[in-house]
Amino acid sequence: MRKFVIMGPQGSGKGTQAKMLARDFDLVHISVGDILRWHVQGRTKLGTTVQRYMNEGRLVPDEIVSEVVKWRLDIHDWRYGFVLDGFPRNVAQTEFFLENFDIDAVIAIELSEETAIARMQSRRLCSGCALDYNLIQLRPKVPEVCDNCGGRLVTRPDDTPEAIRARLSEYRAKTHPILDLLREKELIVTVDGTPAPDIVQAEMRRRLGLVAPSTEAREPAGAAKAGS
Ligand code: ADP
Repeated sequence: MRKFVIMGPQGSGKGTQAKMLARDFDLVHISVGDILRWHVQGRTKLGTTVQRYMNEGRLVPDEIVSEVVKWRLDIHDWRYGFVLDGFPRNVAQTEFFLENFDIDAVIAIELSEETAIARMQSRRLCSGCALDYNLIQLRPKVPEVCDNCGGRLVTRPDDTPEAIRARLSEYRAKTHPILDLLREKELIVTVDGTPAPDIVQAEMRRRLGLVAPSTEAREPAGAAKAGS
């Protein structure tokens, strides 16, 4: 059983890295942002409550997010483990997390704000199948059209300059400081998020001492397309 938490500033590629890790080690990728976006898209009661926070780039209240995470982890649908992406993001969430769950490692991706901003501004999402593109590194074959389903590519509502600034400042003020708290209790593995996704992934695995079971039988790690 492998249980990981992945952290990093917005645009650091944590979603991409989490998906690559999950795919090769049969882990379940649990993205809190994806779960919340699902609620917003489906206009559930929870979605209506969290939409404004998300679009403005603010953290959703702790009680709501903690409840979502607890609900998701309680499903226990993983056989080999999970990668939790997007939680915890502040001290209160970290305390809740450490009281309730055991993990093997926290993967912390580091990236300069300058690079993070450039990446978020070039990020596009398919309005049909939600596949992530990046106009710098992962361009669609036809501009503005999804390679996978032909859907129209759109900008994430929280990838506006104001919301990007707000999210990065939330990260700097609330999320980054919890790394010290986590360092006291858990194994933290820090990796540089600047290189290409497969290089970041290889470094992460090396630092975690992970060897994929049948890597040669699968597509190359760099072929994964995903968000931050
Ligand atoms: P990013 O990390 O790029 O901001 P995510 O998809 O992980 O993207 O999260 C999108 C938004 O969802 C956040 O800006 C925030 O509003 C909300 N959110 C996700 N995780 C949490 C959390 N742990 N606590 C509070 N809000 C959260």
